[in-house]
Amino acid sequence: MVMLKIDSIDFYYGTKKVLEKISFDADDGDIIGIIGPNGSGKTTMLRVISAIQKPRSGSIFLDGTDIFKLKQKELARKLAMVSQDNNISFDFSVFEVVLMGRTPHLGRFDYEDEHDFEIVRHAMELTGTSYLKDRSITELSGGEKQRVIMARALAQKPEVLLLDEPTSHLDLSYQLEIMELVKKLAPDMIIIIAIHDLNLAARYCDRIVLIDDGKIVSIGKMEEVMTRENIKQVFKVDALVERHPITNFCHVVPIGNEFKKE
Ligand code: ADP
Repeated sequence: MVMLKIDSIDFYYGTKKVLEKISFDADDGDIIGIIGPNGSGKTTMLRVISAIQKPRSGSIFLDGTDIFKLKQKELARKLAMVSQDNNISFDFSVFEVVLMGRTPHLGRFDYEDEHDFEIVRHAMELTGTSYLKDRSITELSGGEKQRVIMARALAQKPEVLLLDEPTSHLDLSYQLEIMELVKKLAPDMIIIIAIHDLNLAARYCDRIVLIDDGKIVSIGKMEEVMTRENIKQVFKVDALVERHPITNFCHVVPIGNEFKKE
C-alpha cells in the first residue's frame, strides 16, 4: 500500500508566496483533483509534489521516504509527471519517446530488453497511441502528443502519477477516454490531477482539493467541495450545482459572472 503524505507546504517564487500550508494525504487507488482559478497554484503544487521545486517549508513523504532526499533516478521510478509544456523538439519517433519512460529502470550500462518493450507497447495500447509508433513526435497534433507523453509516464511504472491539465488539448471523446484511463489505472497508483473542468473533476475524482491564492479552501468529496458558495467565493461565478440526471455526479452550470455585473 503506497501512501503519500503532504504536510504543511509553503512555497515561494522569489519573495512571492505561491503555496501556503498545503497538507493532504493520499493512498493507493486515490484519484485527487486539484481545482482552482488560473494562477491559484495548481501547477506549482504538482511541481512541488514531483520534487521539481523545493518548498521553503513542509515535507512530502512517499511510503515513509522524504522525496526530497531521493536521487533523481529513484524518484523517477516512483513518480511521473505529465506537464503542460511538453515541447520535445528533437526528431524522436513516438516509440522512442515512450521508451524513454524506461530509463529510470535501467542500470547505467543496460539496454532496454523485451520486458521494457512489452511495457512500452502496453502503455501505448492503453493511451491509444500504438498507431503512431513510427511517427516523429514533432509532427503530432497537441492531443496526440499529450497521449504519447501520458504513455511515456505510464512506461515509467510510477507509484504516483501527476497530471497537469491532461485533457486541455483533447476533444470531447479523448477527454473522456483519458479520464476513463485514469480510472482504470487508479487501483495501482495514486493519481493527482490539476483540472480546469469542474464537471470532469466531479465525475472522475474521489476527492477534490479546491485552492485559491495558494491556500486550500476546501477538501473532500465532490458534494462537500463543489458547493454554490465555494464556487462563488473562489471563481467569482454564480453557478447552479446540481446532480446530473443521468450520471448522478455533481454538475456545475454557470449562471453569471460577478465581474460582468459590475
Ligand atoms: P495555476 O496552475 O493554478 O494556473 P501556477 O501554479 O501556474 O497556477 O501559478 C501560481 C502563481 O505563481 C501565479 O501567480 C503565477 O504567476 C506564479 N508563477 C508561476 N510560475 C512562476 C515562475 N516560474 N516564476 C515566478 N512566478 C511564477
